[in-house]
Amino acid sequence: MTDYRRYSFWLDTCDDDLTPRPPLDGDIDVDVAILGAGFTGLWTAYYLLKRDPSLRVAIVEKEIAGFGASGRNGGWCFAGFPVSPLTLLRDHGYDAARLTSLEMYRSVDEVGRVAREEGIDAHYAKGGELEVARADYDLPKLQKMYDEFRAIGLEDHYRLLDAQETVERINVAQAVGSFHNREGAAIQPARLARGLARAVERLGGTIHEQTPVTRFTGKPSPSLVTERGTVRAGTVVLAGEAYLSALPGMEREIIPMTSHIVVTEPLPEEIWDQIRWHDRDVLGGWGVTGAYIQRTADGRIALGPYQGNYPWQSRISDALDRDEAIFAHARRSAVAWFPMLRGTRFTHAWGGVFGIPRDRMPRMTFDPRTGIAAAYGYTGDGVATTNLSGRVLTDLITETDSPLRALPMTKPNPSRWEPEPLRWLGVTFVRKDRQRVLRKIERQGEYPEKPTLSQRLYDY
Ligand SMILES: Cc1cc2nc3c(=O)[nH]c(=O)nc-3n(C[C@H](O)[C@H](O)[C@H](O)COP(=O)(O)OP(=O)(O)OC[C@H]3O[C@@H](n4cnc5c(N)ncnc54)[C@H](O)[C@@H]3O)c2cc1C
Repeated sequence: MTDYRRYSFWLDTCDDDLTPRPPLDGDIDVDVAILGAGFTGLWTAYYLLKRDPSLRVAIVEKEIAGFGASGRNGGWCFAGFPVSPLTLLRDHGYDAARLTSLEMYRSVDEVGRVAREEGIDAHYAKGGELEVARADYDLPKLQKMYDEFRAIGLEDHYRLLDAQETVERINVAQAVGSFHNREGAAIQPARLARGLARAVERLGGTIHEQTPVTRFTGKPSPSLVTERGTVRAGTVVLAGEAYLSALPGMEREIIPMTSHIVVTEPLPEEIWDQIRWHDRDVLGGWGVTGAYIQRTADGRIALGPYQGNYPWQSRISDALDRDEAIFAHARRSAVAWFPMLRGTRFTHAWGGVFGIPRDRMPRMTFDPRTGIAAAYGYTGDGVATTNLSGRVLTDLITETDSPLRALPMTKPNPSRWEPEPLRWLGVTFVRKDRQRVLRKIERQGEYPEKPTLSQRLYDY
């Protein structure tokens, strides 16, 4: 029996019974068959069943609901979209760029609203997102972020804070300024995933766990094929994010990248008195010790450094979850951000995979000619974006006339990753170059005059 609690602090402490639901047992017929019980699959099932309670919806999950990134992430439920407002503005125009941001704001609120309505205690706290510059050379980044939202008329949601205002909010070492986005909430992600799974079941959906899908087919007979039977459906939804790269036909659509998190023991009040952080804003920043950070509801600090690995041929295994060098770096980074943590014990360390599409654009698509819908490619910004996926796919599949159907993400994916070995060589080079450049910037106290390839790709 797999002990699913060991996959993250969140799964370990979600207070839900992780005993797997019964697997698929023979062939079945449904209206909508969904691959994957992460946030994408669960939100899609949830909104479809809310829209039309008579629909027969089945989710097929290879492990348990919340096994993937949805049960392991940093809990940043924020309006961060992997493609920047200026890029959306350039490629899709003012209205599309603005609508994307507005719908991301709505997604953050929807997560809170549905959690309340469904009685899911996901530890949701909407304190915003605080991005902190910890060196003068990172200050222009804050202004640039603000200017991007001003370009689409949404600057009211954001605020620039000076060094004093920043440390009064959260006492981060060496803070020189920050950017506050009010559209962000901290959550306990496994509680949300497990609670959503139960909400889907209450609405009449079925979840078959420990049932890996080996392939899918489109029209004339859309289906999810497993070794335990076939789910025949009117519509098939692919909601497997990074793991989709293992499905025949999807190898070059998306690649997996690891991310890792460490979490402290609950901190005593005297440490919280020094750190402050009263609103539980999700916290982040750049540089060698750059990370995404959360104050948990039970008074711990969870920190995920911006370091990860791409596995050769996109092969995902449990072994990827543990990288002792990254865990050690994460613990050192936590002390760099908050020196008062020196001597603090770290109780959990884990990893998982998120998915990256070649052009960084998430996809939320449905092709009525094939009967196949898909939503994936969040590049580590999926906690709130998956809610948008669920709402977009629901409108597309039920042919509901709505502005969501015109969002840029609904267009088919024009980009493919290179075949191996080019893919591994390219991604590994960029990843290593980024670490090298970050160390150089820190040593020299300034950015290179001419950005390197990894800087242009990562926009750091
Ligand atoms: C360590 C880490 C930290 C992160 N931090 C943040 C954060 O703080 N904020 C943020 O916005 N985003 C974050 N992300 C990204 C975010 O968690 C994901 O984008 C999001 O959870 C994706 O949800 P999903 O449902 O699409 O995919 P997943 O949660 O990965 O779910 C996919 C599901 O499909 C199942 N599956 C896959 N293949 C098959 C198959 N063949 N048959 C049946 N089932 C299958 C999997 O078991 C899994 O349960 C983080 C990711 C990681 C790994």
